[in-house]
Amino acid sequence: MTIEKEKYIIETDTLPVYLDELLNHLDEKTEQITSFFQITKYDTKIKIVIWDDLEKYKEHISKYMEYRDYICGDTCDGNINILTLEEAHKEPPHKDMTLRELKDVTAHEFVHICHRYVQQGRKQDDYKDTWYYEVLATNLGNPDDFTLKYNEITHEKLLNFNKENNNYSMAYAIGRYMFENYSEEEMLEFAKYPKKLALAAEEIIDGTMEWLKTKLKYK
Ligand SMILES: [Zn+2]
Repeated sequence: MTIEKEKYIIETDTLPVYLDELLNHLDEKTEQITSFFQITKYDTKIKIVIWDDLEKYKEHISKYMEYRDYICGDTCDGNINILTLEEAHKEPPHKDMTLRELKDVTAHEFVHICHRYVQQGRKQDDYKDTWYYEVLATNLGNPDDFTLKYNEITHEKLLNFNKENNNYSMAYAIGRYMFENYSEEEMLEFAKYPKKLALAAEEIIDGTMEWLKTKLKYK
């Protein structure tokens, strides 16, 4: 069924009891997120597809990338896709997932939608800036899901982002460093112009590593 709300179009076969709570949370988060991206109004409503069948969701993902058991939300087709809490629980990494976490995943995916929105006209995979998508989404979308950890971050690792084990932890740390040391204007420029990001990448990584060592008193 399709449910039309003021800002969203929801597609779902079964109606989760927590749908309103999920959308209210998204409403609370969107203001900060859209203000970062300086988006005042969308051309169309954002579509949220809620998947209540894990197997079908796996098929959906495999059209775009290799399915991994930690994936419970995505924006591969330009919509926000999320698994229901019940289906997410079927995969080991999410067996204890709470509604709070699911709400945060939805906000995380919303950040990706905005990021892509400010890069309009870009062709898929023109630039290797997947890592920066996750820098912004982990910090603006679901920061409560991460803690600051020491990781050896290199540009090489970031360019192969999806193959790295500590990828989200690295992205989160970079974002924490950047939000303290770069202006939001600059950070938005990096989102809009991946070429600019590529040129600054080494400097950002060096800065993050120094900052991390001090912050965590790592020797
Ligand atoms: Zn993400």
